[in-house]
Amino acid sequence: MRKKLVAGNWKMHGSLAENAVLLEALKPALAGIEAVVCVPFPYLAQVQAVLGGSSIAWGAQNLSEQTKGAFTGEVSASMLVDFGCRYVIVGHSERRSLYGESDELVASKYVVAQAAGLTPILCVGESLDERESGVTEAVVARQLDAVIKVAGVESLAQAVVAYEPVWAIGTGKTASPEQAQAVHAFIRGKIATLNSKVADQLVIQYGGSVKAANAAELMAQPDIDGGLIGGASLVADEFVAICRAAAK
Ligand code: PEP
Repeated sequence: MRKKLVAGNWKMHGSLAENAVLLEALKPALAGIEAVVCVPFPYLAQVQAVLGGSSIAWGAQNLSEQTKGAFTGEVSASMLVDFGCRYVIVGHSERRSLYGESDELVASKYVVAQAAGLTPILCVGESLDERESGVTEAVVARQLDAVIKVAGVESLAQAVVAYEPVWAIGTGKTASPEQAQAVHAFIRGKIATLNSKVADQLVIQYGGSVKAANAAELMAQPDIDGGLIGGASLVADEFVAICRAAAK
């Protein structure tokens, strides 16, 4: 059976003081439940110190496609490993839309992350325009194919895919469980045409305005294996309830 995995994406939120309160609340409440928090780079040392030895893993929200060198402002995969990261988000829609990350760049980041031993959480998803134009599956397929082309389908055995419809991120509009399930099933089916074992085991998270109130229904869908959680991951009770709903 596939495991369920919930990851929090803190985005550009937090402070040392706020994080300390949040992490100290999460640690006992999630004891024994596998979960992940993806935090801003400057707080990696803090989460490493607080969460080390707990069931909560941590990661970053981005990384450089380069391994080292004169790339001012960039952070490499090996630097994330130095701080105990196990995961890194690649291709979040905010990176794609606000920072112009192409499918090819996202694929390069995925490759360097895996080469360093990190598990990429590969985000895919359509905009509202794309959904309304009926090209959701084509967009998601294109985003997946860019990675499969350079890394191979087998690489997905060491990755997580997060289906995040862009119109549902931070908007309070969640995809219905049926809408989300349909795209998750499409993703798994597409991978299965290339490698059915990888497809069966692939963790496919749903992301987009997941809250404690809607988590159970989403997590009950057969192809939804957890969530990538933005806003609600900053509220301890919400995040804990989502992780518990997934673990049930
Ligand atoms: C996200 O940032 O990946 C996300 C899903 O955000 P939110 O849960 O706030 O919609």
